[in-house]
Parts: sequence; structure tokens; C-alpha cells
Amino acid sequence: MKRVGGRAAALIVLAVVILGGMSLYILRFLTNGRDWVSFASNKTVYSGGVLKVGTILDRDGQALSQVSGGSRVYADDELVRKATLHVLGDPGGNIGTGALSAFAPRLMGYNVLTGAYSRTGNGKTLSLTIDADVCAAAYKALGGSRGAVGVVNYKSGQILCMVSSPSFDPMNIPDLTGEKYEGVYLNRFLSATYPPGSVFKLVTLAAAVENIPDLNDRVFHCDGGITVGGDYVACTKKHGDLSIEDALAVSCNSAFGELALELGAETLADYAARFGLTESFEIDGIKTATGSFKNAAPNTSSLAWSGIGQYEDMVCPAAILRFVSAVANGGNAVDMTLIKDKGLASLLPPGSSRLLGKQTAEKLATMMNYNVYKTYGQDNYPGLELYAKTGTAEVGGGKEPHAWFAGFITNEDAPLAFVVIVENGGSGSRTAGAVANKVLQAAIKESEK
Ligand SMILES: [Zn+2]
Repeated sequence: MKRVGGRAAALIVLAVVILGGMSLYILRFLTNGRDWVSFASNKTVYSGGVLKVGTILDRDGQALSQVSGGSRVYADDELVRKATLHVLGDPGGNIGTGALSAFAPRLMGYNVLTGAYSRTGNGKTLSLTIDADVCAAAYKALGGSRGAVGVVNYKSGQILCMVSSPSFDPMNIPDLTGEKYEGVYLNRFLSATYPPGSVFKLVTLAAAVENIPDLNDRVFHCDGGITVGGDYVACTKKHGDLSIEDALAVSCNSAFGELALELGAETLADYAARFGLTESFEIDGIKTATGSFKNAAPNTSSLAWSGIGQYEDMVCPAAILRFVSAVANGGNAVDMTLIKDKGLASLLPPGSSRLLGKQTAEKLATMMNYNVYKTYGQDNYPGLELYAKTGTAEVGGGKEPHAWFAGFITNEDAPLAFVVIVENGGSGSRTAGAVANKVLQAAIKESEK
């Protein structure tokens, strides 16, 4: 009897182990099946690292990438191919954030019942939110400069334009060695970080709006710079007496350096974090690069520079776009997406995160609109109700600064936020502002179609 009892117990233990193992396997199959099947050595769906199933369309149904005669081809137009390369991914699979890699399970039509099997053997068609013509306009406007352009509908979160330069024609791949194509596999919009320069003054401004009660009554004085702890923080010119609105419009370093010293590093770091500038976020599962803000010691020129977007501040263009889209949308950042048709999930309203209070967002918006009238010139942006901030970020080493332009437009049919960075592009408003204008004009034209 004793022996039988022992065997029964052993059998029960064995059964529990088997059941447990099975459950664990099924659980892992359900949660990881997507990743297993999209592994690049799966010969059913890959050939030489290239996904051999699935079609990708832009928002208007233009084919951006499909399989034809057994090989993967891209859009008919060469400019569109270069402009959408980073959105899609290259044929060699080197651009990991591209749709061909990031959305591979969707393109295979993967589900837990049939796996990667598709009835036709051709995979699925995926419609992106990207507009190929707007991307082409952005790539052309960059004119061969390195940089990135992003445009998002701040009401729906749909990304209309995501362009990174340098790029190349995936149907006619050039020799990618050499300086011209350095870092070509990096999607600079998603995966690069840059010093933000004066775009960061919006962060310092928001902190000042919420923490300095008499901000509107202040008169700042600029003699061409301020001296802090024996160091000189230079401004671009002698701005004289300024209100906070004018200090932002002329992007006065003296005024914003003073504000940074008064607010302190902890407060600035807190606002940079709240606005999502020092963390990574996801766009349909694709992770963006993490920015950084280093706390400088009190009463130092480093602290003043950190509030001006220099010192060791670093931001990802996608995070700047998310921040200005929140300003446009009353403080609420709608989750960005690249996938137009999400099946049943499309019926739900998109998710969002509150980055800043409604009142602060409105104050920032008003001043960003004033910037255009006061400094950037409404004539340079015909027909646009524009809210923006420039940045001219010093990079040292005798090189031209990076040019930034970020903001949004109010337009019922095209509620769009944008970010433009042109590496070593010089002045923010002249270089990056001109790119932004061309892209926004193209986007509005598309919205009117
Ligand atoms: Zn100044």
C-alpha cells in the first residue's frame, strides 16, 4: 500500500510538471509567437534577411513596398523611395525601426491560430498613416542636408511625414561607405538626439509661467549677455528691455539664462521630464531615443546654458514633436501612430498623455504665435496660422550650428504639429523654417484633395 501511494504521488508530481510546462509553453507561444515567427531566419517569410511577403501602402493607397516576381520592390518614384526609406526599412534589414522589420508580424498576417501561414502566400497589406507626397516634399526641402522632418496630426496622432536624411534609393543602392552616407541606417527622427538649442526655451518658459507669479510684469534687460560666477553667457545681440513675450520672440539668452538661474536645475529637469524630453516613448512599439538633461550647480553659467538648451541638454526630434503637439492640443499629447487601419482598435479613441496643464499650454501657444508675427515673419509662411519656436543649437568644433524649427498650425482640415532639424544648417528660422513651410504647404494641399 505504501509503495502504491508513493507511485501515485510520483505520478501526480509528474502530471503537474507536464501540465505546468505545457501551460508555460502555451503562454510563451501566445505572448512571444509574433517574435519567434518574425525571426529573420524563418525561411517561410524571409529570403536573405528580406521579408518576402506583405505590401505597404501610404495613406492614399500608393504602393510603397511590395513583392513582385519574388523580390521586394519599392515605390515607382525615385524621390518617394528615398523619402520613405527610413519609414519602410532598407532591403538588407539594417534599418530596424522600419515598417518591414517593426511590423513584420502584421505584414505576414501572423495570428496565434495559423501562425505565419497566409492563404495566398503573399502576406497582408498594411496601410500607413504616412503621406508619400508630403515625405517627398520634406526630403526635397532638406536639399541633401542631414537632418529629419516629422509631421503629426495632433488630434488623431497619425504621423503624416517622417523623413531622415541622408537616405538612398533602395532599388539602386549606391556605395554606402564614406562620409556622405555616415549613419545612413539611423532614422534621425526616431533614433538620434541633438542639443535642442533655443527650442528648449519653451521648457524654461513653461516652468517660469508656473513658478514665477509676476512673470508677466517682469522687465528683462539684455546688454548682450550676462556674467555668472565669472563666466560670460553671451546673447546674440543687445536686446535692451524686454517683456517675457519679446524675450521669447527674440530668443534672448540673457533673459532665459536669468530665468534658469532663478528656477534651478531640479525644476528645469522636472519640466523636461514631464514634457517627455528625457525619456523614450513608443510609436506602435517602436522605441524613440532617450534625451538627457544634466543638473548643473546653482549660480553657474552651466545652469544658465542648460535653460537655453545648451550645456549637456540632448533631445530626440520625435520627443520635441510630441511636446509641441501637446501644446497644440491643450496640453494633451495624443499617442502617435504609423498604422492607419488598426482593425477593431480603430473604433476606440486614441490614447493620450497629459504633458502640461491647459492654461500653460495656451500661454505657450499664444507666445509661439507672437514669435511668428514679431520675428519669423508671417510672409514667410503664407496662409498658415503658425505657432513656432526656432532653435540654433551650437555644436562646437568650428561647425555651423544645428537649425531647429518646431511648432504647429491651427487648421480645421490639417491640425498639424511639426519638427524640423537641419544638421549644421545655421540659423533656425532661415534654414529649418523654410523647410517647415514647404512641408506644411504640401500637407495642406494633400488635405484639400
Ligand atoms: Zn538678449
